[in-house]
Amino acid sequence: MQILNGREAAQAIKDSLKIKIAQLASQGKEVPHLAAILVGANGASETYVAAKVKACEEVGFKSTLIRAEEDITAQKLLDTIRELNGDPDVDGILVQLPLPKHISEEEVINAIDPGKDVDGFHPSNVGRMVLGQSTFVPATPYGIMLLLEHYKVETKGKHAVVIGRSNIVGRPMSILLSGNSNPGNCTVTLCHSHTPNLKELCLKADIIIAALGRPEFVTADMVKDGAVVIDVGITRVEDPSKKSGFKLKGDVAYDEVAPKCSFITPVPGGVGPMTIAALMKNTFKSCAQKHYEEAEGS
Ligand code: NAP
Repeated sequence: MQILNGREAAQAIKDSLKIKIAQLASQGKEVPHLAAILVGANGASETYVAAKVKACEEVGFKSTLIRAEEDITAQKLLDTIRELNGDPDVDGILVQLPLPKHISEEEVINAIDPGKDVDGFHPSNVGRMVLGQSTFVPATPYGIMLLLEHYKVETKGKHAVVIGRSNIVGRPMSILLSGNSNPGNCTVTLCHSHTPNLKELCLKADIIIAALGRPEFVTADMVKDGAVVIDVGITRVEDPSKKSGFKLKGDVAYDEVAPKCSFITPVPGGVGPMTIAALMKNTFKSCAQKHYEEAEGS
């Protein structure tokens, strides 16, 4: 069994970006600028946004964190996004989800300039991804593809079972794995809460992507010997022994599942860091499309 170490793979991606940025900066070129909007004070969202801002610092990107009160109006939030859309200095815009109930996530995502939508949630970017065209791929599934690539995990011809069909993880994951690409070329089964024979399907899977947000849902009796198991889940469960009062649990019962696997991701230290590395790559791509490729072409 080999651990797919997301921290290590993410570090390799960030190190390579850092070198590129240092070179570009020394030539007086623009460095990528990510603007993140955080609404309210949700503990998990605070942590994710802080990690994204820290990663920007690490690789040499500019970042701006815009904090909005929980009761911000939808109109005010949309105005902020439009300002960022029009700011030539900003390459990437992300709005940390989830948003408060009174704001439509769909409306907010649709308001982001697709050319700056580094989370890859805008319908036009999702459409491009489905068609296999160059785009911003949503960071978590993109990070998983990068992790599979980093560890040269064979996916061609394999049967992948994705558990969870959210727009940000499960559904795009199923599309990427089924693409005529490497990694990719899997036969994919996409499962959700109405899938009756989930255990049976999982037992047939060469690759399981668990993205449902139910701690330790995938148990050893659901996994065939030699499977590749990618655990996307992150749930905070109470743990009074921790200073924070909680620990992070994945969707896979790691201790019993790991011995059966050829490859498995840990939680934490698996998909999480790869999501951030993928976001950095998207932000770099956005800046490159505007500044470097144009300059190279001229
Ligand atoms: P989500 O929007 O809540 O979607 C969960 C999906 O799981 C839904 O499609 C749901 O089915 C399905 N599901 C729930 N219970 C199920 C069950 N018993 N059997 C089969 N399917 C079931 O979640 P998400 O945003 O995709 O996130 C999933 C997990 O990944 C969460 O723990 C989240 O924190 C984590 N996550 C981690 C990262 C990272 O960077 N590591 C990034 C994003 C999310 P229905 O559609 O039928 O309701």
